[in-house]
Amino acid sequence: MKKIVLCALAISIVACKAQQPKDIEEANPVEYANTITASELKDHLYTFASDEFMGRETGEPGQKMAAAYLKKEYQTLGIPSPLGADDYFQEVPSSVFTRGDVKDTENVLAYIKGSSLPEEVLVISSHYDHLGVDAEGNIFNGADDDGSGTVAILEIAEAFKKAQEDGFTPKRSILFLNVTGEEKGLVGSKYYTDNPVFPLSQTVANLNIDMIGRIGEGMESAGDYVYLIGSDRLSTELHDLSE
Ligand SMILES: [Zn+2]
Repeated sequence: MKKIVLCALAISIVACKAQQPKDIEEANPVEYANTITASELKDHLYTFASDEFMGRETGEPGQKMAAAYLKKEYQTLGIPSPLGADDYFQEVPSSVFTRGDVKDTENVLAYIKGSSLPEEVLVISSHYDHLGVDAEGNIFNGADDDGSGTVAILEIAEAFKKAQEDGFTPKRSILFLNVTGEEKGLVGSKYYTDNPVFPLSQTVANLNIDMIGRIGEGMESAGDYVYLIGSDRLSTELHDLSE
């Protein structure tokens, strides 16, 4: 009996130690970046952009499946929603759409609470909707636009979660924001900024990811590269950091 109690005690001490916050400066970002692998991205994307998701048109069944997929992945990773409990969806009502007849839809949100500056928020976003199916039944799978950015966010979220589990919680909170209605006129992202879950005055930056599967014209032999848009608009500091 004593042995069992001691053993249980030892296990709980080890478990506690793993949760102890550490100095983020001591984290090795490469270790966590290496958890983002081509094979995991491919696994996600081959599901997310499959015919089963029917081109993820806003408000349609394929988009609902995509939303459910994202929620399930965040739950599996143990990353909570800022909306509380198991509600990962910010409802975007059909009434906010001005073009065409679009049904109710939803942004999908998950977040990691910061350690020393939790009230400051970095948003990492992408749109997860695409064009759906045309009148002839052709499915627009949207693997690049923007399945690629969406599955990248899942992998980035996983890397930050792993770092948190090792005691390296980021100083600021990170909101993973998967927006809907982009192809209907940037509606999901506009809805979020009109109805922010965290005050925009405390939102320090938004990195939006779109079409990272694309290789630009003339860039075929460039190797890996990042194409930045707008990073110098509001903050030269962010631009310099990105460069
Ligand atoms: Zn796009």
